[in-house]
Amino acid sequence: MTVKLYRNARIFTPLDAGHPLRGKEQGRIEEYRRGAILAVNGLIEAIGEENKVLGSLSAYSVNEERDMEGACIIPGFVDPHTHMCFAKRREDEFKMRLDGLPYLEILKRGGGILSSVKAVQSVTEEELFCSTKKLVMAALAKGTTTVEIKSGYGLDLELEMKMLSVIRRISKETPLDVVPTFMGAHAVPAEYKANPDNFVDLIINEMLPKVKGQGIAEFCDVFCEEGVFSVDQSRKILKAAKGLGFEMKIHADEVHDLGGAGLAAELGVRSAEHLLAASEENLRAMGKAGSIAVLLPATAYSLKKPYARGREMIDWDVPVALATDCNPGSCFCESVPFIFGLGVMNMDMTIEEALAASTLNAAYAVSRQQKVGSLEPGKQADFLVLDGETPTALAYHAGNTSVLEVHKLAERVA
Ligand SMILES: [Zn+2]
Repeated sequence: MTVKLYRNARIFTPLDAGHPLRGKEQGRIEEYRRGAILAVNGLIEAIGEENKVLGSLSAYSVNEERDMEGACIIPGFVDPHTHMCFAKRREDEFKMRLDGLPYLEILKRGGGILSSVKAVQSVTEEELFCSTKKLVMAALAKGTTTVEIKSGYGLDLELEMKMLSVIRRISKETPLDVVPTFMGAHAVPAEYKANPDNFVDLIINEMLPKVKGQGIAEFCDVFCEEGVFSVDQSRKILKAAKGLGFEMKIHADEVHDLGGAGLAAELGVRSAEHLLAASEENLRAMGKAGSIAVLLPATAYSLKKPYARGREMIDWDVPVALATDCNPGSCFCESVPFIFGLGVMNMDMTIEEALAASTLNAAYAVSRQQKVGSLEPGKQADFLVLDGETPTALAYHAGNTSVLEVHKLAERVA
């Protein structure tokens, strides 16, 4: 039995009430001013004010004790939406966009999502693993201890399976907890442009059952947007996925208010993402249905778009989580501290709300709330030591990650 005691720390954590935090709840963060964490075999046995935690010590012989000298501790970040499994960066395309080239011209010059599909096709599984691992480890160093990773740069069965195998290896061969998502419905391949319903049928009848058989993916995600998948097509795919036992996610109303958020509420999906154009009515319905709004402010930053209405969503009782959306096209960013800052500065979230959004609500968005997302007895001792007195440092010290140490299962991993 490994027993570790971290004492004399200033600890900040949301508290798990058995559901994602919404409305005023999202702004409530517990603080232990002179706090301590007792971890047994990587799980939190006791946490709270130091004198209370020390009181529960007698049952254990502590193997390792550390005086944190008043340092600030928060839960490890959960990044609930990424496309980190890709083979090639698209830096040239970013420059073209900055230079004002229209998207269609970028596509003509070989950019866009289909270029990422070609790249996944052209590398070996080992090469794809190495590039993904590099990015995931960079995220870990910035405080991400649990990460969701989607497939979706395959768009055919073989390549989607290749991506999911890589995602499984990432889960086994890095310290992070990984949540695998199948996103065959990320784009319509060129050969199906004339008959996109045939591709929807292929996903439902062939891909989903085979992906289920492969046994890696837990979630199924769909890009519901004009020119990609309609609300009806998205509904068909998600219902079929649910029938096979997948949990559901949806990229909804990023550019146009198609009603993706309304579909999210109708199906009771675990989370809906982007939501820049979603209507107040549909957002409120999502809140009532218990679906989490996963907001991706680094994508708005990178595309120079207006930000999602994070402040309003919280005021409308929608549980809000933050994610990086890390991908080679619209948003190359694996840093949760960066999106934390954007959430506070550009979406008017409070520090407390942004902390809940990047820890506990994010854990709910990927169904990992029983293990991570807050520092409480029974959960994993996954925590960060910050360079600063409070979590405010994450937004205050702009351009800096403010993460000094990353601990996972009570081991220092970065
Ligand atoms: Zn995405």
